[in-house]
Amino acid sequence: MKVLVVNCGSSSLKYQVIDSESEEVLAKGLCERIGIDGRLVYQKTGAEKETTEAAMPTHKQAIQMVLDAIANPKTGCIGSLKEIGAVGHRVVHGGEKFADSVVLTDEVLKAVEDCNDLAPLHNPANLIGIRACKELMPDVPMVGVFDTAFHQTMPERAYIYGLPYEYYEKYKVRRYGFHGTSHSFVSKQVAKTEGRQDLKTIVCHLGNGASICAVNAGKSVDTSMGLTPLEGLIMGTRSGDIDPSIMEFIAKKENLDIAGVMNVLNKKSGVEGVSGVSSDFRDLEAAAESGNERALLAIEAFSYRVAKYIGAYTAAMNGVDVIAFTAGIGENTAIVRRQVLSYLGFLGITMDEAANAKRGEDYFTISTPDSKVKVVVVATNEELAICRETVALV
Ligand code: ADP
Repeated sequence: MKVLVVNCGSSSLKYQVIDSESEEVLAKGLCERIGIDGRLVYQKTGAEKETTEAAMPTHKQAIQMVLDAIANPKTGCIGSLKEIGAVGHRVVHGGEKFADSVVLTDEVLKAVEDCNDLAPLHNPANLIGIRACKELMPDVPMVGVFDTAFHQTMPERAYIYGLPYEYYEKYKVRRYGFHGTSHSFVSKQVAKTEGRQDLKTIVCHLGNGASICAVNAGKSVDTSMGLTPLEGLIMGTRSGDIDPSIMEFIAKKENLDIAGVMNVLNKKSGVEGVSGVSSDFRDLEAAAESGNERALLAIEAFSYRVAKYIGAYTAAMNGVDVIAFTAGIGENTAIVRRQVLSYLGFLGITMDEAANAKRGEDYFTISTPDSKVKVVVVATNEELAICRETVALV
């Protein structure tokens, strides 16, 4: 079956067409500046990238352009739209309602809408994309794959905050966690490759957004993001964990309201805020190498926080068998992996320097054969994970 995978944001939309049997990507691309002016990027596998500037006032028009591109008689990746057997949609927040992927019926869409409060920037945009696809492809089954679903196995003691319990009862304020599709995909790859289903695995998804997950025998038991993706690690531009009182302190000093403080925590903090250089680790590495001390400090603070969470999750699972690094930084930035592991000698971990310098492979080990904990680098693939979930459901 050919599956269209859609990740719809408020003004952009990423897509891939995947052949579910061979798991090959047939084409991928994105629509940008939806509702502003509009740009379609389309790339058939093995061909040059094509960029078309075209008005796309609504998401429906954007998706129509994607469908026209993938089924284009000359440059398309499929003969006709009839070949698309299902559409898999990324949905950010499923609240407590969704512990698994689901077929998106009207009733389910209503339940997703009920979660909008929990992710006001993301869920409404996801829903617009789903509804537009349903209108344009009424006979094709649609599946929703939630970022939060994998973490619904967390025990209550891990997801409850130290707040008045009524906020959980009335408003469902609790830890949900995100990047679930990636944590699930990577922990499954580890279990499959290592040939063991009972592993205690700590997955470090280190990208622009970053989170860590403790996976015990295939189930998420704790994760670093919370009610929203702001909690946990220091990220590209997000602060991660801070003393909550800092918010009031900064609001007074800088004369900001809540929205202003949240903007600082989401968009002006993280390694970009600390370094004053960039949110991108390639820039940070280059700056640190040329002697920029704050860039080096940002990398060190980032890595130290990752190491602390690994220590915490080792306690949460009473041990760890495998540590997996994934996503942009996890897969590519050797200096971060080296710094993180430098704190973990007490676990009997030893790193293979030459292996840590490798890149470009989908799965490789960077610990030495006598290391007490195996450390691996695993390429994540959220689109393929969504495709697999979609096919399993339809
Ligand atoms: P997201 O999907 O959250 O936007 P990614 O997983 O793409 O993020 O990760 C982005 C981060 O990964 C950036 O900080 C970038 O510098 C880093 N990164 C990506 N590719 C490389 C690379 N080849 N070398 C070093 N760092 C990389």
